Amino acid sequence: MTLFSPLALTPALPLLPLAQGDIDYEIERREQDGIIEELLASPHTQVMLVRNGLVAVPQGSSRQPRIHLATVPAQYVARAYETLCQDLHVRIPAIFLGSYGTAADAGRVVALDLTALDLTTRDSAFLDSPDSLDSPDSPVQPLPVDRFAALRADAQVLVEACSKFEWIDLRTFVPRASAREIGQATSAISVANWQDSQRYCPACAAPTAIIHAGWAQRCTNPDDGRELFPRVEPAVITAVVDHGDRLLLQHNSAWSNPLLYSVSAGFVEAGESLEHAVRRETLEETGIALGEVKYLGSQPWPYPGSLMMAFKAVANTTDIQVDGQETVDAQWMTRDEYRNALIMGRMEPPVKAAIARVMIEQWLGHAID
Ligand SMILES: [Zn+2]
Repeated sequence: MTLFSPLALTPALPLLPLAQGDIDYEIERREQDGIIEELLASPHTQVMLVRNGLVAVPQGSSRQPRIHLATVPAQYVARAYETLCQDLHVRIPAIFLGSYGTAADAGRVVALDLTALDLTTRDSAFLDSPDSLDSPDSPVQPLPVDRFAALRADAQVLVEACSKFEWIDLRTFVPRASAREIGQATSAISVANWQDSQRYCPACAAPTAIIHAGWAQRCTNPDDGRELFPRVEPAVITAVVDHGDRLLLQHNSAWSNPLLYSVSAGFVEAGESLEHAVRRETLEETGIALGEVKYLGSQPWPYPGSLMMAFKAVANTTDIQVDGQETVDAQWMTRDEYRNALIMGRMEPPVKAAIARVMIEQWLGHAID
């Protein structure tokens, strides 16, 4: 007997929130000598700021219905960037995100990562002491006090940005921002997370230098010199339905909210295919064996460097056996049962930025308010 498959009517996921950017990467310009300095000197370049995985927005934005990135004209911060990087040896990754349009005066966007200026760690010392900027990868000679004061004044516009702006994460930003700015923020945070987490060559432990307009690094050991690129961690996420089109929703022990229920997800093992990971994760977590599996779409999830790839699958079995470790509860839900669980406060959906939210809403047939 051939059962009707709901997958026959499953379209690819529309409008995944973190995958809507329309910027032209202009990859061919990344290896151009002095590209960052040239861009920062241009009146057509805007700078957005990131720090510790957060984006800068105007103060008070998190209470507003719409949020925009805080951007500043590049020429306004060019001197401060140069002073911090070249004179004070502070590591400020600059990432050329791309342009809007091909004309010479097309808007271009650079992201500056101010993590090294974090007020809670180094910045208070930075404001006080001329010899406080030494870091493991760029030891700095103490500067004469008057020289340091002049440099500090030059750098002030970026130092003050740490306290002048409000800093929010993508989960807060995405539901209230434009697709274009979400794309910028996602790229900037993804690359900055990698730049902040890897400063040494994994092969020889020499410090790395930032190259390719922020998108790569080069080992500074002249006997090595290899180029290093951001690591992306593939993860699969699967909406599992049974032949009655009930959705499998589960709660994982790692989630602090006991009411959060979502779909099956996990990292792809080294040497594993995506489709194998889909079947393995669902079987491990819930004991459900999958039949047909269909790809739906993907979006980056920079916490810190994942790429979420979404699938829909039909269960061959319905007997749930959670592993009790990663997954502590799983339930088959009809649409009416799920709506009721949300209304009665027995379950809460994933955040709006998450691909899981879109997957659940697609199955449900409407957005969750
Ligand atoms: Zn090396």
